[in-house]
Amino acid sequence: SIIRDKVDHIDGASNAQLSVIDGIAKEFDLTVEKLSEIIKHFCNEMDKGLEKTGMNVAMIPSFVTGVPTGKEVGTFLALDLGGTNLRVCEIAFEGEGIIKVKQHKYRVTETQKTGSARQLFDFIADCVDKFLAEFVTDYTENAKIFKMGFTFSFPVEQTAINQGNLIKWTKGFTCSDSENKDVVFMLQEALNRKGVPVVVSALVNDTVGTLLSHSYKDPNTLIGIIYGTGTNGAYYEEISKIKKLNKIPDASEKMIINVEWGAFDSEKKALPITMFDNKLDRESNNPHYQIFEKMISGMYLGEIARNILLHLVDRMLLFDGYSSKELNRNYSFETEYMSAIEADESHTLDNARKILEELLNIPSTTLTDRQIVKRVCQIVGLRAARLSSTTLAAVIIHCGMVECGVSVGIDGSLFEFYPHFSARLKTALRELFGSNVDKIEISLARDGSGVGAALAAMLAATE
Ligand code: BGC
Ligand code: MG
Repeated sequence: SIIRDKVDHIDGASNAQLSVIDGIAKEFDLTVEKLSEIIKHFCNEMDKGLEKTGMNVAMIPSFVTGVPTGKEVGTFLALDLGGTNLRVCEIAFEGEGIIKVKQHKYRVTETQKTGSARQLFDFIADCVDKFLAEFVTDYTENAKIFKMGFTFSFPVEQTAINQGNLIKWTKGFTCSDSENKDVVFMLQEALNRKGVPVVVSALVNDTVGTLLSHSYKDPNTLIGIIYGTGTNGAYYEEISKIKKLNKIPDASEKMIINVEWGAFDSEKKALPITMFDNKLDRESNNPHYQIFEKMISGMYLGEIARNILLHLVDRMLLFDGYSSKELNRNYSFETEYMSAIEADESHTLDNARKILEELLNIPSTTLTDRQIVKRVCQIVGLRAARLSSTTLAAVIIHCGMVECGVSVGIDGSLFEFYPHFSARLKTALRELFGSNVDKIEISLARDGSGVGAALAAMLAATE
């Protein structure tokens, strides 16, 4: 079938409705041949990125070379700026794989995401100060200086373990006066302005943090991934293959590479881009950037689905041609709604009705309408999961691990909560790798990026 997945029947649909929906499903469909083509393209992009800086797929050296042994001991702070939250943690490594974490989350507002960088970093320094005062007992007692690992979930051209310039904001952040600037410097200045006794001693991407923390538990872990608000991956690479580093390698040495695969295909040559994707891209605050991410990650899936729903409304094929002020607003159809609608197994799709009629104020919906909406969510969610398999498969192929297998640690709301996401991802991997897929150990690495940043700070301190 076109949708490559179990789908519910749409009752009482007209031929016009069915034919338009089938047409859309076809455009979003990904055969295994198409997946293989994308993988080939992506493998090339990885090679280019390892050769030169500034390439589309950035392949950023993390300057993390050590693999944690699980024996490390020490206490470090970690700060995790993701897509939605800011997390401050105190992490105690007690040896034998034992980790104790105190943490607190602070919400980052729209104003902070889009104001000046100075305001954002001042807010971050405030949160660290509050966290220390509230949760860390020896904060006021002595003049201790805390070491902190900083997880920064945006593309940064790193020049050392504690240094790196922001390439470009993603995921709706647009703070001024920060692109091409050193994010550790900006954070350290803000901490100093407030007199917070913290030294930022390591900077890691969230994928790098996830990989580090997962390999602390399972030394076979060679890949770390985020499928959340944004998407990206990191893996251990042989230093001899990182040509742009110009380093005489110690043959045995490996370094974590932050792939930055969200930026894949900004030329729109390899991916099956539809008019719904193009509309989203054009209306976004970073048009022509993060094209792969915009087809996959939690920030965008709802918006793709919304574009399809409005297309159907405009053709009088949905909601009797009625939209609502709410549904007309960009990003009003949240990916969480898609999750709830895909999870709605009731005959009458009551949760879907609540979302559409109560949250989005559609005047009235028929069962056919709701079944169509569910189908649209399935089409968009399935494509996201199948596309997600391509860059993961490419890394596995690139590293020559198809036959021998590998452990992969994955974090992010989409992977953790979106119905069928991981099953669909695995189905695609099985189509690509056959029974070798059973040697790929995929597991949830929840909130690993903070622990990973603290580990990076510790590895940096022991070097
Ligand atoms: C960023 C990556 C990050 C990913 C997941 C993307 O938008 O470019 O650096 O790892 O989101 O948070
Ligand atoms: Mg995160």
